[in-house]
Amino acid sequence: MTGLRRRMLLVMVVLSAVAMTSVATLIFTSMRSFLLQRTDEQLDLVRVPLGAKLAGEQIKEPPQEIRHSLVNIFGVVRGPDGRFGPETRLGAGTSPADRPVLDDLPEIGSPKSVEGHAGVRYRLAAYSAFSPQQGTLYVAIPLTDVDATLDRLFVLVVVITAGVLLALLAFALSLVRMGLRPLDEMEATATAIASGEFHRRVAYVDKTTEVGRLGLALNTMLGRIEDALDQRSRSEQRLRTFVADASHELRTPLTSILGYAQMFHRGAADDPDDLHTVMRRIEDESSRMARLVEDLLVLARLDEGRPPRRAEVDVAALCRDAVLDAGAHEPGRVITGPGDEPVLVFADADQLRQVLANLLRNAVKHTPPGTPVEVVLTKVGGEITIDVVDHGPGIPAEYHERVFDRFFRVAAGRERDSGGAGLGLSIAAAVVRAHGGKISVVDTPDGGATFRLVLSGETRFPGSSQTRPSNG
Ligand code: ADP
Repeated sequence: MTGLRRRMLLVMVVLSAVAMTSVATLIFTSMRSFLLQRTDEQLDLVRVPLGAKLAGEQIKEPPQEIRHSLVNIFGVVRGPDGRFGPETRLGAGTSPADRPVLDDLPEIGSPKSVEGHAGVRYRLAAYSAFSPQQGTLYVAIPLTDVDATLDRLFVLVVVITAGVLLALLAFALSLVRMGLRPLDEMEATATAIASGEFHRRVAYVDKTTEVGRLGLALNTMLGRIEDALDQRSRSEQRLRTFVADASHELRTPLTSILGYAQMFHRGAADDPDDLHTVMRRIEDESSRMARLVEDLLVLARLDEGRPPRRAEVDVAALCRDAVLDAGAHEPGRVITGPGDEPVLVFADADQLRQVLANLLRNAVKHTPPGTPVEVVLTKVGGEITIDVVDHGPGIPAEYHERVFDRFFRVAAGRERDSGGAGLGLSIAAAVVRAHGGKISVVDTPDGGATFRLVLSGETRFPGSSQTRPSNG
């Protein structure tokens, strides 16, 4: 983070330094050329009296415009033979040492700044000498004022530039610090989260700034991760409960079998009748265990989350078969199913058959002998509803959700004798969920339970837009 801050500052400062220096240089050079130009104009003005003076004329008052700057003006004529004539001066402060160095002479019309013998610089210009003199007239004005002004300007410009740059730096520093403070906070939050405080969130969220949006995105991501972790720990918990329940359920028949085996061993069942009873009980318990293991396997397979092997199935026919099977177990009971008209769904026929069998077995098992059971099939729009309606004691409303939980029985003690482990409805729920359908239990209007299964009536293969012709 410090790297980013340093880079931002560096860019800011370098850019403004470049800008400020260019402006300062521009000001300085234009000021210098302005001042030199004014000096050159003065040279033009003084050359006339100076020339006159060199020609031996008596000059009177110098022109008003230049009187203020008449300090140590220097003039000399250089003859065509290259020899300098006598020097002359105009103005006060004249001393023989105060004269320009005449090594590097300017051309006519382009004045030059040259060094002087006393350390003072001069502006030196060349003109054609007045007749009757021949040669070139050189006029020089000391640049004392110009240089002083420029020196002063230079110092001023440097000081102002440096000051402004410093102020800018301080301002930028505080701005960057302020702008990046949320990032520091985020860093702190991330560190806290890394050390286990998973509930921590970034405090700075703001849709209008980049950093704020980053905070928002981070919080969303953290929420997702926390949800996923929660979900994982919940599913681990569910699995533990499931294993514990399954072990418990398996232990009961095992204990009985062990008990009967010991009875037989001790000779407590020598009587053929007793032996017969013991063997029958062992058989019962074994088949109950086999059923339980079978159910657990079915659930485990459903838990793998593999998609059901779907094909076009006539649920009406499946319902009629299930009704026939259930009726065979209890011939006296009136169980009615849907009519002949096919109702097609796209589903795993074996799994649907098992769901119907489980529901019908419950309807027979948990109701008094002789009470009628109906399987009602309706198709509304794209939805197919299968109701398994009984007229028994029903299920109290508070258990309507929980009956689909694994190993859940409304009255656990009493039900165990009926052979169920509380897995039938959870298998049904898992199958229906895998098919993208819904299962629920509602009260039958005149008493009893109605298990309602809602499936999609689409007879389409997933992943293809091809719709199979429906003859229902
Ligand atoms: P079980 O193997 O015990 O039948 P299920 O998961 O099929 O397990 O059913 C769970 C519990 O729901 C049953 O133990 C029973 O208490 C209740 N139940 C299920 N179907 C019915 C019904 N048709 N009428 C009354 N209670 C029912």
